[in-house]
Amino acid sequence: MAKGMVALVGAGPGHPGLLTLRGAELLAQADVVVYDRLAAPELLAHAPASAERIFVGKVAGRHAMSQEAINALLVRSGLEGKRVVRLKGGDPFVFGRGGEEALALAAAGVPFEVVPGVTSAIAAPAFAGIPVTHRELASSVAIITGHEDPTKPASAVDWARLAHAADTLVILMGVERLAELANELVRQGRSPEHPAAVVEWGTTPRQRVVTASLAEIAAAAQAAGLAPPAVLVVGEVVRLREQLDWFRRGPLAGLRVLVTRARDQASHLSRLLAERGAIPIEFPAIEIRWLEDPAPLDQAIAQLARYDWVILTSANGVAALFQRLDALALDARAFHHARLCAIGPATAAALAARGLRADWVPRDYLTAAIVAGFAERGVAGQRLLLPRADIADPNLALGLRQLGAEVDEVTAYHTVPATEDAATLAELLEEGQLDIATFASSSTVRNLCAALGPRQALLDRVRTVCIGPVTAQAARELGVHVDAVADVHTVDGLVEAVERLVAAAPQRVCTTGSSV
Ligand code: SAH
Repeated sequence: MAKGMVALVGAGPGHPGLLTLRGAELLAQADVVVYDRLAAPELLAHAPASAERIFVGKVAGRHAMSQEAINALLVRSGLEGKRVVRLKGGDPFVFGRGGEEALALAAAGVPFEVVPGVTSAIAAPAFAGIPVTHRELASSVAIITGHEDPTKPASAVDWARLAHAADTLVILMGVERLAELANELVRQGRSPEHPAAVVEWGTTPRQRVVTASLAEIAAAAQAAGLAPPAVLVVGEVVRLREQLDWFRRGPLAGLRVLVTRARDQASHLSRLLAERGAIPIEFPAIEIRWLEDPAPLDQAIAQLARYDWVILTSANGVAALFQRLDALALDARAFHHARLCAIGPATAAALAARGLRADWVPRDYLTAAIVAGFAERGVAGQRLLLPRADIADPNLALGLRQLGAEVDEVTAYHTVPATEDAATLAELLEEGQLDIATFASSSTVRNLCAALGPRQALLDRVRTVCIGPVTAQAARELGVHVDAVADVHTVDGLVEAVERLVAAAPQRVCTTGSSV
């Protein structure tokens, strides 16, 4: 993507897998990403960490940036020579006001590209098992805005014509006017018996579908409490859903799960949760930073040949070591003398990705088990290098020294409290918008509590799952209740624990007497 260019990228209907390859490619090169509510938040992970992320959509209570202001922002960023991605829900040119944005860019002489997206008009019905055309049932489809009051005399939508213009009608932005829309279609001669469906949050874990006759669809949708975003589908094709309803909500269907890992590590956990139907809500409680003063780490690297073992305690540690190796124009060969201990499978995978095989991965990722493993191996008199986070548990080095090993600890990276907006999180907790909180390390619990401050008590309203006993203990010490602890202390194990907790009790059983 050239500098000073704006790409209007279709973000797809909500499922993060429904972004196009071109969209992902442009996101990866973006300096600025301008997005709104309908673009799946996971998509932002395709953009580099350094990219500026600008939210311009409507979020509960807060108002959207006006279209004029968005147009001006795109033009200005383009003229400043930035690579701008304007992520737009669905397809940018299907009721997305993408046309207006493109016109503004054209008028200002800013080069732009349009990347079509998977539109909700077709994808939401598809995920509900409704093909919008079908050889026997529908040979045409119309996509219509339901935003306008159909009874308004000056309506831009010609319902008299549209009611019969196509076999299948897909109406966007219409849930709030379902009764008027359905009435109008019946008034224009569509049969009240005609099948209809409303698909809410189609393609996402929150997807809900209601089907009824045209006469009854508004009442049925209202009874189910359906709200935007949703599409209304009217036509014989809706009947196919009886046979084609393929979309399975996973074991965590619809549960909103807080992910507190650092942003660059959150995606794996979020993906696993989403695959099971949960809605991951990322609130990174920590942030990983490279060293400001890498001299001690560089020195350790220069002396790698003198160590018998290098113990890697996290994938971040591996990344940090390699970042310095790279800066020193070295590579994996620097490790050739030392044996490598990776504290868990994720750390071993990080080594493997760099061409190194861990000599030992402890079966249990707890300090005591690791020390016991080294005791078995016999490390008395050996030199061990322990590159680790600045806030790591000191007990590992202590235990190893007690075995008679000479242990050099060196800080490989910093973990700092992330500067996320705790007010937003508190709001979510307060409104009951979260079901489960996950903690993948003690520092995430600590920082989350620090960020919430006096509002920490709000955590009583959710169930919590910890990756292991150390994290659980840290939580309890801070007064955070723990509902489940993973058996296997990995991200996969954490997700398994969430699943088990939900299977045992799908709803939170309130034991503390606090309000839920
Ligand atoms: N450009 C978008 C549409 C933007 S208008 C597209 O091509 O999909 C916004 C409307 O799109 C919403 O009011 C709703 O009717 C529909 N919509 C967007 N995402 C949706 C989803 N995941 N499920 C159902 N409807 C959706």
